[in-house]
Amino acid sequence: MLSNDYEFEEESILPNINVEKSYGVKFIIVGDSSVGKSSILVRFTSSKFDEKHSPTLSMEFGSKHIIYNNSDYLVQIWDTAGQEQYKSITRSYYKESAVAMMVYDIREEESFEHIKVWLEDCKNLTPSSTLLVLIGNKNDLEEERKITKEMGENFANENNMIFFETSALNGSGVDNAFQKCIENIDRRIKEGFYDLNEISRSGIKIMKNNGVDSVSDNIVDKKALAEGAKKKKSINCCIFN
Ligand code: GDP
Ligand code: MG
Repeated sequence: MLSNDYEFEEESILPNINVEKSYGVKFIIVGDSSVGKSSILVRFTSSKFDEKHSPTLSMEFGSKHIIYNNSDYLVQIWDTAGQEQYKSITRSYYKESAVAMMVYDIREEESFEHIKVWLEDCKNLTPSSTLLVLIGNKNDLEEERKITKEMGENFANENNMIFFETSALNGSGVDNAFQKCIENIDRRIKEGFYDLNEISRSGIKIMKNNGVDSVSDNIVDKKALAEGAKKKKSINCCIFN
């Protein structure tokens, strides 16, 4: 089951949900411009598709809680800043990311070809623990498809990535992709795969008070998060059982 906009009381962000642990998880999204990266971010965090969404000029950021397996995962997504065509995405963008999503458009062969380059960047610039994810977006435009699902799957298998097809337009596959990533992270945490101490570069931070108190300053503005949550009286959250 998936539910959005979980209502919360003033005193705590997620008062009625018993979670044992809270984690902040940094995601980055890369890929050629216009493949739908920002649309995927908006679809996941706001459950909507904004056709008039202007091309990303500055860094975009969105977050959403996923409650899974007695843990609260605050998914923190960084979206590239329209620098895609210049291949000048800064090193700091890749730093400390737990998940790197590489997106292509199933109608654009070039965008699929370029995944090789994005993957090289990710391998060179992210920690070795980063979960690598391949996403073929715009699968609502089936009649214009150039890249078969099998091609995507094969590339992902050969390169140790997990693969999804999505449509930011109709939402298909988007929540599932984020959920499956969190399931992977959850399993890896329980297996002791990550070094989660203070100076860990894994992109996963242990948080107190359901994500408000001890979120690392360079990941999210704590005050803004708390203020925003107070104002909205609801927090962006979904629960997977
Ligand atoms: P970005 O440059 O990778 O961030 O791409 P955008 O999210 O700005 O999307 C580029 C264009 O593709 C916009 O016109 C979107 O409306 C459109 N778009 C994005 N995702 C989809 C999708 O899943 N299906 C369809 N049909 N159009 C999409
Ligand atoms: Mg964009």
